[in-house]
Parts: sequence; C-alpha cells; structure tokens
Amino acid sequence: MTSANAQIRLAAHPVGLPQPSDWDYTEQPAPQPGPGEFLVRVEYLSLDPAMRSWISGRHTYIEPVALGDVMRAGGIGRIVASQHPDHQVGEIVSGRFGAQRYTLCRDGEVTKVDTALAPAPTHLAALGIAGLTAYFGLFDVGRLEPGQTVVVSGAAGAVGSIAGQIARITGCRVIGIAGGPAKCATLVDELGFDAAIDYKAGDVRARLREHAPDGVDLFFDNVGGAILDDVLTCLATGARVVISGAIAQYNATQQAPGPSNYLQLLTKRASMTGFVIFDYADRYPEAMTRLAEWISTGELVSFEHLVQGDIKDFPETLLTLFRGGNTGKLILALPQDQ
Ligand code: NAP
Repeated sequence: MTSANAQIRLAAHPVGLPQPSDWDYTEQPAPQPGPGEFLVRVEYLSLDPAMRSWISGRHTYIEPVALGDVMRAGGIGRIVASQHPDHQVGEIVSGRFGAQRYTLCRDGEVTKVDTALAPAPTHLAALGIAGLTAYFGLFDVGRLEPGQTVVVSGAAGAVGSIAGQIARITGCRVIGIAGGPAKCATLVDELGFDAAIDYKAGDVRARLREHAPDGVDLFFDNVGGAILDDVLTCLATGARVVISGAIAQYNATQQAPGPSNYLQLLTKRASMTGFVIFDYADRYPEAMTRLAEWISTGELVSFEHLVQGDIKDFPETLLTLFRGGNTGKLILALPQDQ
C-alpha cells in the first residue's frame, strides 16, 4: 500500500537565505512500476549545503534545479513495489531520489545499502558523500602524511568531523574550527581532535598561533571567508589549502571579497586547490573499504544529526545547516511505517 507522493518543488530562486515562498509543496498519486521498474519509498533524505547553489539558477558544477522541478536530494529508501528481476520488495537502496516520498527507479539509478555494515543513516554520513569528500580531499588533494599539523573548518559538521578524525587516525595533529563551546568540546572529548577553536568567540588567528606554533601543513576548508583569511596567515612552508566548500558565502547577496591574505601562498610556497567529489566516483569503493574498516574498529565515529519529520519539513530543515544547528551529518528521517 502506498500513500500519496508528497513533494517539495522549487518555486523561486532564493535571494539570500531560502524563504518558505521559494518552495511549493505538492501531492500526487504515487507512481506504479512498469516492466523493469521499481518503486522506492524514501526514508532518509540528505541535507547538503551544496543545495543552496543547486537552487540559485546558475550552472555551477552541476545543472541547476529548474523552477517547478522536485528538489534534487540524495536519500535512502526501501523498495515497496517491483517489476525488476534483480530488485526485490524490502531492499534498502540509496540514490538521487529527490525531496519526495516515492520515486520510480530503473537499472543503474540506485546502490544497494548494506545495513549489516552500518545502519542506513551512516551510508549518508561517514560511508556517504561526506566521508568520501573528507577522504579524497585529504589524501589526494591535500597529500596528507603522518606527523603533519592539520586544521579543519566546519569541523563539527558532516565532512569536517570525518576529515578531522581521518587526519587523527593518520597520525596528524588536528585542530578543528567550529561555532560554539559545545561543538568544540565534542571535537576534543568525543572525536579526539587535539584542539578546537570557537570562531564565534573571536580572534581565530591568535588561537591558531597558540595551537599551531610551527604553522599549518594542511588546511581543509569547508567555510571560506574570514576563517580562510585567518588560516592563510598561519601556513607552514609547503602547505596545502584544500577548498572543500565555502558555506560562509553560500547565502551572500553581494560578491564576497577574495581572500586578502592570498600572497601567503607565495611566501610559504603553498598551494590552494579545489575539488568536486564526483570526479572520484570510480574510486569510491577504495575509500568506502577504508572508512568501513575504521568504523568497525571504532577508530572513526559517524555523527548523524537526525531530524524526524515528513517531506513538508524539508525547507525548514535545510536552514539548520546555515544556522549551525547540526552536529555531524544532517538527515531528515521520514516515517518508516506508512
Ligand atoms: P555541515 O558542515 O554538516 O553543516 C554546515 C555547518 O557549517 C553548520 O553546522 C555550521 O557549523 C557551519 N556554518 C554555517 N554557516 C557558517 C558561516 N557563515 N561561517 C562558518 N561556519 C558556518 O555541512 P557538510 O555537508 O559537512 O558540508 C561542509 C562543506 O563541505 C560545505 O562547504 C559543502 O559545500 C562542502 N562539500 C564539498 C564537497 C565537494 O565535492 N567539494 C562535497 C560535499 C560537501 P558551525 O556551528 O560550526 O558554524
């Protein structure tokens, strides 16, 4: 039995922080699978800062979501009807399902989720895009080596919490930057960071000098803006600055100023490199194997911030990311019994 298909569609390109009027809520009958198709009921939706750029109307590294379309979103769901020989009712799968309760899928559109390896939400967190971004950003882009001093911004978030732990597991000294004393305490007490800096308390530069007196070898930046500028003044010779994201400017209504301290890259013979995780898709299995091993030994903790709700709650839940309301991977958990 399927209920109505609840959907969130893009109504307008937001200016600044997305508003309720930027979204439409629609309901229509759930589709039924034809030959070779199966129907997925979405149970977990991933909330990602990148969604803000997808709804901006501009082409970035991916097609923008068009006005009137169901919002693009990754998720995990359960097959509830199938006319596909290889996909059975009850199977748990992940895919780009959209902000909707039901979606019809065909060959190649889903990945089977091994819930024996880890609970479903973890496959959107440490074993999902967040973990993969941390892994390839550190090892491939940042050339992470044991013994280095690593700074991670957005450190209590999905990507940042995994990046800091991977650096710690690799034998680095890790300093996290996050908003507020509670998040900073979590980084040190629960995730094993060597130190944490509360950027909301001010003077990030002075705190960095205290915790990294010999300079920063690798900066994994999720935030950009003033924090990037501060870390640029504390680089060690040969440092790598890895641009994972710049959430501080995703809702900006004016052009953000460039990093004024970028000439530190010259004096420190340093580099600053951006990357898009999708470019590493053929190597996801390699990273997943290592991430799963670290989870199984207890070295890596996957923090998931689950918000229980329904599809209607998607727009408000997305704002949690920009208000700093999440610790770990933000996920909208939908009812599993309807
Ligand atoms: P997240 O860090 O779990 O959530 C966002 C966090 O950012 C918030 O909790 C908040 O934490 C912080 N934040 C929000 N506004 C801020 C501001 N103005 N200044 C400083 N911090 C702010 O999100 P995520 O999914 O892990 O993504 C983190 C970054 O990785 C994003 O920039 C995202 O675009 C990027 N990313 C990149 C790739 C890639 O392929 N390059 C892939 C995935 C994600 P505080 O409480 O600490 O402020």
